[in-house]
Amino acid sequence: MTESINNVKKDLYINGEWVQPSDYKELINPATNQVIADIAQATEQHVEDAIQAAYNAFKPWKALELKERTAYLHKIADLLEENADRLAEIMTIEQGKPLKESRLEVLSGAESFRWNAEEARRLYGETIPAPNDHKYEIVYEPIGVVGAITPWNFPSGMITRKIAPALAAGNTVILKPSGDTPLSALAIFELFEQAGLPKGVANIIMGSSKEIGEAFTSSKLVKKITFTGSTPIGKALYAQSADTLKKISLELGGHAPFIVHEDADVTAAVEGLMAAKFRNNGQVCIAPNRIFVHESVKADFLSQLTEKVEALKVGNGLEENTNVGPLIREDAIDKIKKQIVNATDKGATLVTGGHRLKGEEYDKGFFFQPTILDHVNMTMDIFYEETFGPVIPIITFTSLDEAIEMANDSEYGLASYAYAKDGSAINKLGRSLEYGMVGINSVAISNPETPFGGVKQSGFGRENSHLGIKEYVTAKFVNTKFE
Ligand code: NAP
Repeated sequence: MTESINNVKKDLYINGEWVQPSDYKELINPATNQVIADIAQATEQHVEDAIQAAYNAFKPWKALELKERTAYLHKIADLLEENADRLAEIMTIEQGKPLKESRLEVLSGAESFRWNAEEARRLYGETIPAPNDHKYEIVYEPIGVVGAITPWNFPSGMITRKIAPALAAGNTVILKPSGDTPLSALAIFELFEQAGLPKGVANIIMGSSKEIGEAFTSSKLVKKITFTGSTPIGKALYAQSADTLKKISLELGGHAPFIVHEDADVTAAVEGLMAAKFRNNGQVCIAPNRIFVHESVKADFLSQLTEKVEALKVGNGLEENTNVGPLIREDAIDKIKKQIVNATDKGATLVTGGHRLKGEEYDKGFFFQPTILDHVNMTMDIFYEETFGPVIPIITFTSLDEAIEMANDSEYGLASYAYAKDGSAINKLGRSLEYGMVGINSVAISNPETPFGGVKQSGFGRENSHLGIKEYVTAKFVNTKFE
């Protein structure tokens, strides 16, 4: 076991104290299937304590001078940068992604804190034209206690992009990270403590996700739920929040189309696809999952793509030459295998990959070959079901309208991508793709400055950008009459 894992706290952090419950649960490394830590599991009382602590901390945190509040956020950003190597190692060991990706994720978290500290200073209200003896104003105020629930695929990034705007706007938070990746979250909370964040402003609890979700949604003290994860769990939390009428933001599943038009720069499209698809081994809500290629460029595209996919080195993310790590769990492999069998039974052909990796280092972890499937069509499960793994399904098209129609034939609406040169084709793609984000000739759609979020069954709400912080405030109208 490495020092970084040994040194990180494994307890609950409630009201500025590390709390040790009686129950701890084993955590495994997906690259080795070995136990790496025992993680604290909260009781119902711990969850209530955390909610109460966040509630008590809200008024003084909200009342803090903006300059003082944002100084904490800048301090946290500094600490994330200083500790990026250690946090990256922790993330790779618990989640599997290559170290380089983990490090970039930690640094993007530092950027989230800086960006939102700045945005808090620009939460301008408005003055509305009013009768002469009146003043109409809109002022933005924090909501209160925020319950945040995050997934395992970005064990650090999904947390920082929620907690940074929530705290910047003056809210307090209780985080429940994924049970598969709590160590990255705990390491961030150690930095919150080092930054001197006042007690109760940020709390972390691990344990039964169902019970914690119910405690958050039924609590009258929690005013907002922010969730990133699967669509079914997001819907359940939405339904559970109805009774207490909470504000809620839902960043849910995706099944991104990637269109390669007949005039596309094929080499650039292959590069874009490789970067977006194999980041975190395809376990990304915005990973391209349905690749629509014009018949005239298909042979060239497939040949360039196959060469690159076959050159990928799959392995333990701690090793320097690894491009692609393991999948998160055994059931992730089962899901991919099922989609591949279903597709090949219905006529798809395996161009490369298709199987679990075996032998030596691969035997213990959850490693799968990077895979290309050709001749995929709409009768196959993989066309409609989120993939979350290293599988590239190729669908051939003859007209752009047909490709756009197929691309929009999805219950999801998070990310979409297209490569094209013709101006009217680009315009049509930008306007017609029914997704929250469209990347044209670029796969870089997640930045602190730009809005991230979906439509349809991919949820609602936006993270990052100037819109992100607005998810954590209410607009208050003040009407003042002058005598
Ligand atoms: P998940 O199973 O929905 O879990 C997400 C979080 O919800 C975890 O913390 C999980 O805790 C918790 N949870 C599970 N059941 C719950 C319940 N009944 N009540 C309250 N919380 C509950 O999703 P995942 O497998 O971790 O993540 C993958 C999914 O996230 C994919 O669908 C992906 O597309 C989506 N995602 C979306 C975005 C986006 O921005 N739109 C970004 C990343 C990922 P435990 O793990 O401890 O059970």
